[in-house]
Amino acid sequence: MVDHLANTEINSQRIASVENCFGASGQPLAVPGRVLLGEGILTKECRKKPKARIFFLFNDILVYGSIVINKRKYNSQHIIPLEDVTLEMLPDTLQMKNRWMIKTSKKSFVVSAASLTERKEWISHLEECIRHLLRKMGRQPSTEHAAPWIPDKATDICMRCMQTKFSTLTRRHHCRKCGFVVCADCSRQRFMMPRLSPKPLRVCSLCYKQLMAEKKKEAEDGQSGQITGLGTGRPRLRSLL
Ligand SMILES: [Zn+2]
Ligand SMILES: [Zn+2]
Repeated sequence: MVDHLANTEINSQRIASVENCFGASGQPLAVPGRVLLGEGILTKECRKKPKARIFFLFNDILVYGSIVINKRKYNSQHIIPLEDVTLEMLPDTLQMKNRWMIKTSKKSFVVSAASLTERKEWISHLEECIRHLLRKMGRQPSTEHAAPWIPDKATDICMRCMQTKFSTLTRRHHCRKCGFVVCADCSRQRFMMPRLSPKPLRVCSLCYKQLMAEKKKEAEDGQSGQITGLGTGRPRLRSLL
């Protein structure tokens, strides 16, 4: 696709200029075979409100960051490996048009482009890169992804108990499993989700129940398999006879 650009002078210059814009706040981006394909500003739906972010599409990663001075200085760099990305189209809302979701195992978020054409271009380039990369790695598209966080403004009351009203004193929290906005009482539990973090994370009461039930089931399945050995095959054989 773009492999002919890899290791060319013009590509190295482009990557070096992206590195410069992030300065010390960014990671080195020059890697053999990496090609910068495009850049643009997208609006990212953040916890408090939508914010303009600079995005750089490479053939293997998507990089984005906050804009300090456009075309000159960026910070808060995030690097997303494209093999972990799946995309989902989203309908317009009153405030945001041309939206889609960028989903990964660690983090999922919603972005919107300035026009429908711009969205089309982003999507087709992203999808082509992902396809190309997965083929090269011999991998299937990722099926698991983190729940996107529901923005704070979306609700004034806890989305679990539907009673607690949020205020400056009553803080909003986010469940790391479902992304809902919940009160402190409805998110007392923590749960280990190694895919997201090495530390236990805040989860809402409903997700905690579900996660515990899953964990219990896994433990039981594991045990019955170990103890009975051939046991799991028996019922099937009996039904055949
Ligand atoms: Zn609550
Ligand atoms: Zn939850």
